[in-house]
Amino acid sequence: MSEKANIGVVGLAVMGSNLARNLASREGNRVAVYNRSVERTELLVNEHPEANFIAAQTIDEFVASLAKPRTAIIMVQAGAGTDAVINQLAERFEPGDIIVDGGNALFTDTIRREKEVSAKGINFVGAGISGGEEGALKGPSIMPGGSAEAYKTLGPILASIAAVAEGEPCVTHVGTDGAGHFVKMIHNGIEYADMQLIAEAYDILRQAGNYTPAEVAEIFGEWNKGDLESFLIEITAEVLKQVDAKTGKPFVDVVLDQAGSKGTGVWTVQTSLNLGVPVSGIAEAVFARSLSSQATQRAAAGNLPSHATKWEVADKKAFVEAVRKALYASKLVAYAQGFDAIRAGAKEYNWEIDLGAVSKIWRGGCIIRAQFLNRIADAYAQNPSLESLILDPYFTNAVAEAVGAWREVVAKASLAGIPVPAFASSLSYYDGLRSPRLPAALVQGQRDFFGAHTYKRVDLPGVFHTLWSGDRSEIETTPSSH
Ligand code: NAP
Repeated sequence: MSEKANIGVVGLAVMGSNLARNLASREGNRVAVYNRSVERTELLVNEHPEANFIAAQTIDEFVASLAKPRTAIIMVQAGAGTDAVINQLAERFEPGDIIVDGGNALFTDTIRREKEVSAKGINFVGAGISGGEEGALKGPSIMPGGSAEAYKTLGPILASIAAVAEGEPCVTHVGTDGAGHFVKMIHNGIEYADMQLIAEAYDILRQAGNYTPAEVAEIFGEWNKGDLESFLIEITAEVLKQVDAKTGKPFVDVVLDQAGSKGTGVWTVQTSLNLGVPVSGIAEAVFARSLSSQATQRAAAGNLPSHATKWEVADKKAFVEAVRKALYASKLVAYAQGFDAIRAGAKEYNWEIDLGAVSKIWRGGCIIRAQFLNRIADAYAQNPSLESLILDPYFTNAVAEAVGAWREVVAKASLAGIPVPAFASSLSYYDGLRSPRLPAALVQGQRDFFGAHTYKRVDLPGVFHTLWSGDRSEIETTPSSH
């Protein structure tokens, strides 16, 4: 073998083989491929002779087929499989070579792996890749972490295969070690919230508006021409249009209503709880999937009283528009919370993450790609240290226009007994955020009463405790500086 590959892919299931084909289709790339079981390698190479792959039967052959610095992207099952392949490569690679984990790793695993691999002088890059199998083939959104040095070699290769939005490749060096996988995790969390919010809008349109799935598809088709334009709205319309061939019923009516998940939503919520960031919209979306899957409990609870009243829809056009506004405002909250989590993660783990750059690379290739992300990119371009996306003037105005309808939809859904956990929690978050006074003052009082946890006063510096079981006088526990 005379010519060597500038890039290799290990793991040739659906994601790896599509990514390898994508890489091979770009000018200047020669791609080496390897899979633990040789059948997958043979299948890929036989089905795609045009890709001119260098196919390796063993890991040694694979490593030998790579030009230096050797660069390999791992696309295997997250967890033990990824560790096994990293070890195989790290044993054979030399200082300066680059190992990329393109799977869905938990960012703390990536931090650990980066430490272990970089101790040998080998670069380790955890890269979040979004867009599913089609994205992998045609252009995903790529969120690489790792060292800036590795990105010099890797960046142009990733840019060659990434989706393109507004003329820019959807890839950026997110930050060191686990930053890329962290941002991919939050992307998935936002995806959970976005999907749940769309599902709640659909449910209201159906239950209160009496629209058929095909009619809701039409409504979503219209929404997709405006501020809500996004991949998820587009595919939701497609799913709602689908008719089941076996029964002739709407497809959505023959699917069991128990939503599955692969864990990245849970990771987002767990991580955000640890960071103290209220990602309530994302959390409600994860909980809603959990509730949907509690089949036995739901069956047992089917006859619980509701005292619900019918939602009388007098003006259908106004009703649809109110639901659209509620969806838009709730979606803004989900994104604002997700970006808050990225900011908090960056602070905790010492990453310098450019939030504007993140919003730009989500504009194409990934599942949450949306028109909306251009607005987010504009918001961060105008003010990179924006305290909350909701405080950007464009979004503040958008919420001002939507908030009346948002309240009406949440209140009426509640009266009608339609569950809207993500709509309602997003509205409550918004109200909490803008409230000049919160009942947290009372919570502080309770905490001081039972646990002497102390409190601060609005009118004096220092930290105080009330002698609740004594004469209820107040003592200053940490004297103020004056
Ligand atoms: P997958 O089903 O997650 O994993 C199958 C691949 O992993 C096969 O190539 C398998 O090799 C290999 N593998 C498993 N254990 C191994 C081990 N101990 N040693 C060596 N190889 C091992 O594949 P996928 O769906 O293509 O996903 C690949 C990665 O991309 C995963 O981390 C996934 O989370 C991530 N991802 C997937 C999507 C998606 O839409 N599917 C989207 C984004 C990211 P054998 O053929 O020998 O069994």
